[in-house]
Amino acid sequence: MATLPPIGDLARARRAYAEFIVDVGAASAHDPAIVAMLRPARPSAPARNAPTTRPTSPKPLRRALDPVAEARTLAAGAATLDDLKTVIERFEHCPLKHAARTTVVCDGVYDAQVMAVGEAPGQEEDAQGVPFVGRSGRLLDAMFAAIGLSRSANLYVTNLIFWRPPNNRDPTPEEITLCAPFVQRQIALKRPRLIITIGKPATQSLLNVNDGIMRLRGRRMPYTQEGWPGPTPAVPILHPSYLLRRPQDKARAWADLRTIATLMDELGIPRIDPM
Ligand code: URA
Repeated sequence: MATLPPIGDLARARRAYAEFIVDVGAASAHDPAIVAMLRPARPSAPARNAPTTRPTSPKPLRRALDPVAEARTLAAGAATLDDLKTVIERFEHCPLKHAARTTVVCDGVYDAQVMAVGEAPGQEEDAQGVPFVGRSGRLLDAMFAAIGLSRSANLYVTNLIFWRPPNNRDPTPEEITLCAPFVQRQIALKRPRLIITIGKPATQSLLNVNDGIMRLRGRRMPYTQEGWPGPTPAVPILHPSYLLRRPQDKARAWADLRTIATLMDELGIPRIDPM
């Protein structure tokens, strides 16, 4: 008659299985079923007269090998924007997080029909934990107010990256790829009717294009993602920090904002009275 393996062996086998599927990215180390399997096995009671063995110390949890797969799994598991915000705040696999003071996810109205996506938090955003609150943020608010958009009424704002890159350097392609599942999930949960991409990195990354911002600014473009019902209109604009350096280009920015205002009117998206 086959003998059943002792409970401790079964638990160890389940633990090895769980470690494996987490390592290859097929499961999340945060999945409660996986967490239960990863708990150290309790040693089975030694048979009477059996030689005693020293208990082995539990193996430390190994980190998932593929942080992007981990980000995808965690993002997909978030059912609401609040859940997603918590998931992003707890995500430990972006190296930028370790030098940043806060995690900067979003600001504005959750069910706004217009969503604007910038690049990455700067020093003031890192200090306050809110996107676009520094000098360029104040200019951005003023630009949006000019076409009846405000984060207190009808606008939601986020960034490609949720932690400040040291010395305000540009985010690397790897950092953008790592955060992309969270940006895409924000869009999927929000379902905006119009997306505004702010500056070159947000435009190229979200709209999957290589042209420079000067060619793309003010154009109506399609935003799509896997499983998306249909393209969502998107319009790239110049980044306000660029405009602070080159105020002579504000006329261009204004032309692009007017394109957005016209598009909002066509789509029936209400604009608020700027004053
Ligand atoms: N620049 C950005 O792109 N995002 C911010 O939140 C602040 C400055």
